Amino acid sequence: MSTPAQRMVAEQLRPHGVTDERVLQAMAEVPREEFLAPRMRRHAYEDRALAIECGQTISQPLVVALMTQAASPNPGDIALEVGTGSGYAAAVLSRLCRKVVSIEREPALAEHASETLRRLGFDNVEVAVGDGSLGWPAEAPYNVILVAAAASGVPQALIDQLADGGRMVIPVAVSPHEPQDLRVYVRRGADVIFRSLFPVLFVPLRTG
Ligand code: SAH
Repeated sequence: MSTPAQRMVAEQLRPHGVTDERVLQAMAEVPREEFLAPRMRRHAYEDRALAIECGQTISQPLVVALMTQAASPNPGDIALEVGTGSGYAAAVLSRLCRKVVSIEREPALAEHASETLRRLGFDNVEVAVGDGSLGWPAEAPYNVILVAAAASGVPQALIDQLADGGRMVIPVAVSPHEPQDLRVYVRRGADVIFRSLFPVLFVPLRTG
């Protein structure tokens, strides 16, 4: 017998470019329904973004998987996530890294996500309330940075907090009339270069 999360991996993720076995394993192990309100749970394994509190969304599973894969997390890494939302993507990432610091600007979402993560035993995730465009200097630098909200430019603080060899995956709003460009930024010493992955639609990164 397979679980709904295992079927999601087989039917929605493997056939669509998710090849990293560690990422697939993590996606099979995190129960997405637990991060949703009871009335949304029957939709948990549809491959789409779903509404959570505060007018925000839990990202589409395929997008979570492809972003996580693009960040190439390693077991010893420390990761920063901007935009905790439900806590789902942080839970997936926490299975692949040593520690995840996740920042959410809505206190109600941060509190709820933190409770869910604690209840399910994801104890290497620390949720903080704040403006994630400033990063979280206390634990910097980060080997992995995942940004789950779109900015028109990449916040300098996030570039500054990326470790040598570190990877940041972020949706960049290039124009208000087009989908955002999901990018991977990689630091090599003083140089930071990026490549584009694919177009995406994220909620805006609200700064200040
Ligand atoms: N990763 C989440 C999806 C988050 S949606 C999940 O798996 O459920 C994006 C989130 O970013 C929203 O919760 C929104 O409140 C938050 N957000 C927007 N601007 C932010 C900022 N400047 N700092 C921190 N969080 C922010």
